[in-house]
Amino acid sequence: MSMRNRLLAASHYPLRLAMRIGQPLGLTSSNALRVLLYHDIVPRDRARFAAHIRWLARSWTFVSIEQFAAMVSGETPVRGRNVFLTFDDGFASNRVVAEEILTPLGIRALFFVVSDFVSQVDRESAREFIAHRIHPGSRVAEMPAHLYNMGWSDLEALLEQGHSVGAHTQTHPRLSAIASDLERGREIVQSADTLATRLGVPIEHFAYPFGDVASFSADALAMARGRFRFVYSGLRGDNGTGVSPFALRRESVAANDPPAVVDALIEGLADFRYAKARHQLDEWARPRSSC
Ligand SMILES: [Zn+2]
Repeated sequence: MSMRNRLLAASHYPLRLAMRIGQPLGLTSSNALRVLLYHDIVPRDRARFAAHIRWLARSWTFVSIEQFAAMVSGETPVRGRNVFLTFDDGFASNRVVAEEILTPLGIRALFFVVSDFVSQVDRESAREFIAHRIHPGSRVAEMPAHLYNMGWSDLEALLEQGHSVGAHTQTHPRLSAIASDLERGREIVQSADTLATRLGVPIEHFAYPFGDVASFSADALAMARGRFRFVYSGLRGDNGTGVSPFALRRESVAANDPPAVVDALIEGLADFRYAKARHQLDEWARPRSSC
């Protein structure tokens, strides 16, 4: 277990106890809307992923994309402890866990995909794309054999099962490093239009690559809010307290994290570390005054 996991797991039970005691006194809120963010699910971790879902289902309600959208938009109040499931990048393992674990349980997830990655037609070129674009700095030879992309037919199968697809740019760039409006438009707007045309569904949800505040910008958010109804970051935090639909928070977790760690993260144990970044994102997402 890593030091991060040891620290989180050690503080898990005191935290739960404090929250249970605090709730009747009105010290903590019993209402929450959290979004989990997974990436690739390694085949040997499938059982662990299923254990996460079972563990969470004991005290959290998995919400659909429609329920999530209604809560974030303020159309329905956030009552109880709600969690929404998302996956980034579009790895082939995502379809497997959707079909084997989520669909049978009636849990519907949102899959953010990179349009050029979806278009890769063989595994070797997909692995090169991962090494150069999704995990820049890594080497193709380091990529495990199971790591490649979902193609268009995989996304169609997910949609048929009631899951949803969101946009995650065309080539997975760091959007803050793009100075040209034309290039930014290709990554944010045109890639989503490509998904919508190829899949025949509206694409209203967008997650920017890498998820940290240094990888996004005011210009990129302004363009995204003109094309999408919802913009997701990788910053930890609750979405149940009037958060802008253009500054959504997510809990990044891995399938091999112990359930106690996932639980500690979703309870907000690490939220404080992201306060400054959330503030920056909220500033960018503030409604512009019309003048
Ligand atoms: Zn990504």
